[in-house]
Amino acid sequence: MQLVLPSGLSAAAFDRALQQFRSIVGEDWVFATDHDRDSYLDHFGFDQAAHVGSAAVAPQTTEEVQAIVRIANEHKIPLWPISRGKNFGYGSAAPVMSGSIVLDMSRMKKIKMDIENGTVLLEPGVGFYDLFDYVEENDIPYWISPPGNAWGSVVGNALDRGVGYTPYGDHAARLCGMEVVLPDGDLVRTGMGAMTDSPSWNMHPYGFGPGWDQMFIQSNFGIVTKAGMWLMPKPETIVSLDMELDRADDLGWAIDTLAPMRRSGLLQQSPSIGNWLRAAAVLTNRTDWYDGLGALPDSVIDAIRAQFGLGWWSVNLRFYGYEEVTTAMAEKVKSIFASRTSYEMKQGIWRDGDPRELQPFAGVPITFPLQNASWHGGRGAHVGFSPALPQSGDAALAQFRRTFDRYNEFGMDYHGSFALAERHITNVNQVLFNKDDPDMVDRVDRFFRSLVNDASEQGYGEYRAHIEYMDLIADTYDFNNHALRRLNERIKDTLDPNGVLSPGKSGIWPANYQNERG
Ligand code: ADP
Repeated sequence: MQLVLPSGLSAAAFDRALQQFRSIVGEDWVFATDHDRDSYLDHFGFDQAAHVGSAAVAPQTTEEVQAIVRIANEHKIPLWPISRGKNFGYGSAAPVMSGSIVLDMSRMKKIKMDIENGTVLLEPGVGFYDLFDYVEENDIPYWISPPGNAWGSVVGNALDRGVGYTPYGDHAARLCGMEVVLPDGDLVRTGMGAMTDSPSWNMHPYGFGPGWDQMFIQSNFGIVTKAGMWLMPKPETIVSLDMELDRADDLGWAIDTLAPMRRSGLLQQSPSIGNWLRAAAVLTNRTDWYDGLGALPDSVIDAIRAQFGLGWWSVNLRFYGYEEVTTAMAEKVKSIFASRTSYEMKQGIWRDGDPRELQPFAGVPITFPLQNASWHGGRGAHVGFSPALPQSGDAALAQFRRTFDRYNEFGMDYHGSFALAERHITNVNQVLFNKDDPDMVDRVDRFFRSLVNDASEQGYGEYRAHIEYMDLIADTYDFNNHALRRLNERIKDTLDPNGVLSPGKSGIWPANYQNERG
């Protein structure tokens, strides 16, 4: 990609800033060729040219991050921090605002494990595979919680509220204590970290006074250079219960059956109820099934289900811990379901010492589900649309029907799931598309906007957004004339008067870039 200079900066000032960055991190760690810029594009984006970094700088220490931030302030250059930049479907490594310099922290890879307490202090460059290898090679009796695709960073994923499938799957909730470089270069440690050398930094989440960890999640208020995280003690067993639901309408009663179990703690992890395309899109391509235009017809849906032995929806439950407890929990769940349905629940058990299932359920990172991007052929991609709903079967069913109709209207194939958190449902839609098909790209954009509109009419907002749609989503959070956005931007301008940190992230624009909104 050709150079797009940071807004308001001359080419000479840009070159001077890059020289200053080189003096901090070394010649090899400032990237500013066309080729370099390509590697930080959003490869799953509709319009890669709309979000292009001007360069990237890759520090190795917190002190280097601080020095870079000070130089950015000197020139008023916006930085876009990433951990590993694998946030596919939400923007990958690319910035909201073109011309920003990507602050690539993938070289910061220190891991400090406290085995006794099951906490780990991580730098942002530590990937799920790095942490998995570290835990396994050192025979540490804890498991990681990988997301569906585990190419990314443990910290980066948690900072965008990514989720996993074990009882520790709400990653943002498992963060405990951070080290943060503020937009002026100052360094703060949150929670107990505010006390020099406190041994309980990564154990007690609050410390004294206000707790700020959440303030640095999905925000542009600071650069996280270390984060504490709790890991799940390795379980003695995992008991599995898998069920196929035959009819689309089964979603409603299934949600109403599972929700009280989730609230009471009988279900420890967030079960995700997903449709037939989840498996088909990973294992096959669309042309294996159908050559026609428009959404897949029912006859093809039936053929896919028959081939993979799938229901309209699949429900996969997992119970973790001592065998007496996990088997008793599974029995209880089966007896509750038996009063509502005759669908079979397939039961399995993994015991410590057995080979691990290659699944995030079992704390094992995988990337092969990314294969689903090839569903339509061409250079494939997906974009996430994921509103949060109340835990009600009627609400879930209505949301499904509304969304399914939209998929049909826009000729897209339904790829949806309903994940039960403790008190809400996240309705994750992974909209698969072919970037080489301009008509499809245009349709997906219009489709996405109608989904957002439909959901917001119900008061449902997205839990996470692609960089292209951050303003659109922030707009839907509209109570009292967008009071939350006004609060966010007051904080932004106080902490970051030069607007150097991720302008536009989560729809939060600093005063000097207000005209960039939208
Ligand atoms: P991953 O590689 O795990 O997918 P990313 O590095 O792509 O994660 O990060 C996701 C988003 O979170 C980024 O686009 C950025 O806005 C934000 N982010 C990531 N790492 C940091 C960090 N260390 N400090 C502040 N924000 C971050």
